[in-house]
Amino acid sequence: MEQIFSQIIQRDPGQKEFHQAVQEVMESVRPVLERNPEYRRQAVLERIAEPERVLMFRVPWMDDQGQVHVNRGFRVEMNSAIGPYKGGLRFHPSVNLSIIKFLAFEQVFKNSLTTLQMGGGKGGSDFNPKGRTDAEVMRFCQSFMAELARHIGPNTDVPAGDIGVGAREIGYLFGMYKKLRNEFTGVLTGKSLDWGGSLIRPEATGYGVVFFAAEMLAHVGQTLEGKTCLVSGSGNVAQYTAEKILQLGGRVVTFSDSSGYVFDEDGVDREKLEFVKQLKNIRRGRIHEYCDRYPQAIFTEADPELGYNQLWTHKADCAMPCATQNEINERDAGNLVRSGVSLISEGANMPSTPAAAEVFLQEGVLYGPGKAANAGGVAVSGLEMAQNSMRLSWPREEVEGRLKQIMKSIHTTCVDAAAEYGLDGNYVAGANIAGFVKVVNAMLDQGLV
Ligand code: NDP
Repeated sequence: MEQIFSQIIQRDPGQKEFHQAVQEVMESVRPVLERNPEYRRQAVLERIAEPERVLMFRVPWMDDQGQVHVNRGFRVEMNSAIGPYKGGLRFHPSVNLSIIKFLAFEQVFKNSLTTLQMGGGKGGSDFNPKGRTDAEVMRFCQSFMAELARHIGPNTDVPAGDIGVGAREIGYLFGMYKKLRNEFTGVLTGKSLDWGGSLIRPEATGYGVVFFAAEMLAHVGQTLEGKTCLVSGSGNVAQYTAEKILQLGGRVVTFSDSSGYVFDEDGVDREKLEFVKQLKNIRRGRIHEYCDRYPQAIFTEADPELGYNQLWTHKADCAMPCATQNEINERDAGNLVRSGVSLISEGANMPSTPAAAEVFLQEGVLYGPGKAANAGGVAVSGLEMAQNSMRLSWPREEVEGRLKQIMKSIHTTCVDAAAEYGLDGNYVAGANIAGFVKVVNAMLDQGLV
């Protein structure tokens, strides 16, 4: 296994996020490979860690002043063993091939856990939508889709949103696809309700994170009622994570963005949450503005030099990281444990470094990794695809009911898979093993392709 991993590093040196994601899965599935010599003979690890296709392309666009810009576009089509490639698009200046490959790799196992027929992919660009006008974002999206359109399709590859790609961007991307291909199909998910979107899709990732947390708690005879939760981020996932926590009787005391975080000891109520939604989704403002409206809250500026994030030092019962990868390091994990946190449900993808995850496992924290806990978003995207192919829209209760059921089933699958290998209570191992076995068996059924 070490040899395989070092070959992966040698082939693509410098792709540290991708290596991190691969290493975690490889460590988890070691006992599976020991039990199944056929998997080793068929080189399943080497095959699953190599994308089926990697697309990189130039995205030229013009700003409102007539200045030309060039960004880089990516789509990594990682694995199609169990369905068309499926996974979001991220527009953020930090985007590079390593980040898109790690996200695509994670997506393969996550999609497998949902029980729906979806392969794994991910894409995006180093374009920064922050501070850009709607017209600039539209021109960028149109240029991005001018290339991407030839590679995707409702039965081939179905992108969705992620960081920096919300309803506005999905609208512009869909419009350009439709014009180029002259067809109205479910080629993207996260669409607006009026033209093929699904109810509950905007809420799905955050709601799912909390359903998963509630399942982990129920498993040990507890509920979210009265529990204090630290939430990071203030975008789509963070907002609906907070909303569902409130609905289930929990308290939310933090939100963040890349500039820092707010701590509201009185707790975020529905009205304050509505303010955050308006601030972030409509006015596209910064999180410190929360304190202008609610002066009892405290804003703390992000300080990368500090070596830890002060958000994770507040006394709480649960933490839901919903911003970005590697936002919890080993020190943060220690701080969380010392602050009384006994449950982590990850809204972001890979928000905990391997050392942080190790702390959670060692300390017996109920630790739901992103690929299980945040799978609700892609699950409802799968339901959006199903509704699109039937030209039907299911009511809100039906979609939320299915989401809840899927999260429950992911929880059971993780628990059972971990127990089968004597790793009771280890959701990381459970998620990786269950996701892996299903995809690998499908790959073997389909031959060496
Ligand atoms: P949004 O763009 O809506 O929000 C992202 C939030 O995270 C913002 O508050 C943003 O702050 C903050 N953030 C982003 N990058 C950084 C950074 N480098 N440092 C600090 N803060 C940062 O994205 P989503 O809510 O959709 O996504 C959040 C996470 O959830 C991501 O990891 C994503 O991959 C994951 N996820 C999303 C799903 C979805 O359905 N949307 C599905 C499954 C996982 P700022 O505004 O300052 O950039």
